[in-house]
Amino acid sequence: MIVLLLGAPGAGKGTHAARIADHTGLPHISSGELLRGAVERKTELGLKAKEHMDAGNLVPDEFMLRWIEELLDDPAYASGIILDGFPRTIPQAEGLDKLLAEKGLSTDLVLLLDISQDAAADRLLSRVTCGKCGAIHNLAQKPMKVPGICDACGGELETRADDVRETIEKRFGEFRKQTEPMIEYYRSRGNFETINTDRPVEVVRKDVQDLLDRISAATSSGSATG
Ligand code: ATP
Ligand code: MG
Repeated sequence: MIVLLLGAPGAGKGTHAARIADHTGLPHISSGELLRGAVERKTELGLKAKEHMDAGNLVPDEFMLRWIEELLDDPAYASGIILDGFPRTIPQAEGLDKLLAEKGLSTDLVLLLDISQDAAADRLLSRVTCGKCGAIHNLAQKPMKVPGICDACGGELETRADDVRETIEKRFGEFRKQTEPMIEYYRSRGNFETINTDRPVEVVRKDVQDLLDRISAATSSGSATG
């Protein structure tokens, strides 16, 4: 099963992708997280990506397309994948379609997490990530028991370098210019669903769960009748 999670910065892609991964047993790949790892390790991709990311711009398609091609060749993802943050532009979506078609695959679910810009910006400004276990927390929604320390594992909490007001504005600009047209590309095809994530995370989680249940019911009844 191939699932794409689309949505503006702060829409909750990482949070809900982790849930979908738990539910389906499929690996969750976040392009942003992999890029941040590459920046930290100073790999060739990381060195090229850093200035774009720090400025709140997208990393050029040419690098992202090379990245996804290598990723999809990895046998670890042969049974499926939850992609969070990729694709983000029409050329990326077209490139992904082509690579999948070459493998006889196509996307099974394209899920748009839809949020207002104000709500998303508030969330980004109060978001912290655990440096140890990677959990994403929102301090405005739920303060930690010990400030600065992850409730889940005791690791130290970090604020992402691009979660500052000026860079957030830039990221929204990129989303409107490059990603919204791509969303229309997917919307006009099948397997497209939207969930509004302006609501509390537990309410959204329930909707995501219901959607996955509906899809598995439809898939199993489809295969039973041939
Ligand atoms: P959130 O983590 O809240 O979903 P986001 O979508 O802005 O917010 P990431 O997905 O982590 O954050 O991406 C961080 C940065 O990494 C982006 O601003 C961009 O520079 C780069 N990036 C990630 N995915 C892509 C992509 N598919 N194409 C180009 N650049 C990307
Ligand atoms: Mg993310």
